[in-house]
Amino acid sequence: MRNGSDVIVVGAGIVGSSATYHLAASGVTVTLVEQTHPAGGPSGKSSALLHAFYLMPELSQLAIRGREILVSLPEISGEGSFVTEIGMMWVCGNDNEASWKSAAERIRGEGALIETLSPQAFADAAPGFALDNVALALWEPEYGYADAFGATNAIARAAKARGARVMQNSLVERLVKEGDRISGVALADGTVLKADAVVLAASPGAGKARQVMPFAWCDDISCNYARPDNDGVILAGTWAGGGTGVRHEQAGRPRFVDNPDDYMEGVEEAESVEILETFATRVPAMADLGIRPGYAGLYDMSPDDLPVIGAMPGVDGLFVSAGSSGHGFKTGPAVGEAVARLVTEGAQPILAPFSPSRFKAA
Ligand SMILES: Cc1cc2nc3c(=O)[nH]c(=O)nc-3n(C[C@H](O)[C@H](O)[C@H](O)COP(=O)(O)OP(=O)(O)OC[C@H]3O[C@@H](n4cnc5c(N)ncnc54)[C@H](O)[C@@H]3O)c2cc1C
Repeated sequence: MRNGSDVIVVGAGIVGSSATYHLAASGVTVTLVEQTHPAGGPSGKSSALLHAFYLMPELSQLAIRGREILVSLPEISGEGSFVTEIGMMWVCGNDNEASWKSAAERIRGEGALIETLSPQAFADAAPGFALDNVALALWEPEYGYADAFGATNAIARAAKARGARVMQNSLVERLVKEGDRISGVALADGTVLKADAVVLAASPGAGKARQVMPFAWCDDISCNYARPDNDGVILAGTWAGGGTGVRHEQAGRPRFVDNPDDYMEGVEEAESVEILETFATRVPAMADLGIRPGYAGLYDMSPDDLPVIGAMPGVDGLFVSAGSSGHGFKTGPAVGEAVARLVTEGAQPILAPFSPSRFKAA
C-alpha cells in the first residue's frame, strides 16, 4: 500500500468490523472508529437471514463466502458459534419459476447446497403451510440465520486481538483531505486521526414457534420473511429492499427518512397486525400466535437496491461501503474481506458491479 502506512475504517457494523479484521490479519495498521459500539447500527438490529439465493451471481458469491466466514468464527475469534443452520426455504409463483430454477442451478455450480422442490415436496417439508400460488420452493439446508449482534462483536474483538485499534463512542464528524487525497478523519471532540486510506462503512446508527415456522423463510409473493427466534417467538417482517435484491414497491415502510436520528424504531400494534396478516393465507397458524412488541430498523437503500462499494472517484485513498439495501448482513463478512483487499491490493472483480462510479456514469 502507498507509504506502507495505515487505514482508518469508519463504522463497526458487520462490514467495517470484517474489513478491520482482514486488514489487521494481513499485517496492516488499522483503526476502527465507531460512534457507539460494534453492531450499534443496523447490523445489531438485523434479522440476519443467511442464504446463497440471489439472482445476481456476485451477491450469491459474497453470501456464500460470508457464511463461510461466519461459520469459521469459532476458530477466528475463539468464541462460540453465531450461526443457526436451520435451513432456508423460499417460495415463488409462476412468474419467477423459470428464473429461480436457473439461478438455483447456477448457485449449485458455485458450491452451495440448494434444492428445487416441487409444490408437493414443499408440502411434505412444511406441514401446515398452504400451497396457494406456490409454483416452486427452494431449500438451502446449510443456511438459516446468525446472531448478528454477537457475530459482529466477535469479529470486532478478533480484529482487536490481531492488533487493530478499536475506538468506541467516537463520532467521525468529517473527512480530512490534503489536495485531492484523503489524509484522515476528524472526530467530534476535535481529535484528528491520520491515515493513508479511509474506508467509510458507516450507514445509519441502529417451542411452538419452531413447529409453526420450522425454518428461515422468504416469500416472494407476500413479500414477507420470518424465522424462529428464541423460546416460542417468531421474528417476522416485511421487506422493502432485500430478499432477492429487488425492491418491492408495495412494501409497508419503504419511505424516505430525512433524519436517521428521528427514525421510529418501535413498531405500533397496528403495524405488527398488518405484518402478521401478510402471513394469514400462507401460514394460518401464525394468526393464532400473540404479538410481542417488536422493533423496526432503518437501513440505507441505494437507488438500484445494490450496495455501493469501491474507491470514491476524485478522492485518492477514500473507499466506501454503504447502501446495502436491507440484505447486507450475510454478504458483510465477505464484503469486509474484499474491501480489505481493495485497499491493500487494488480493484477486486467481485466488487465491480457495486462501484460508486455506476451512478456517475448514468
Ligand atoms: C430490521 C432489519 C432487518 C434486516 N434483515 C436482514 C437479513 O435478514 N439478512 C441480511 O443479510 N441483512 C439484513 N438486514 C440488512 C443488514 O443488517 C445490513 O445491510 C448490514 O448490517 C449493514 O452492515 P454495515 O456494516 O454495512 O453497516 P451498519 O450496520 O449500518 O454499520 C455502520 C456503523 O457505522 C456507525 N457510524 C455511522 N456514522 C458514523 C460516524 N459518523 N462515526 C462513527 N461511526 C459511525 C454506526 O453507528 C454503525 O455501527 C436487515 C437490516 C435491518 C435494519
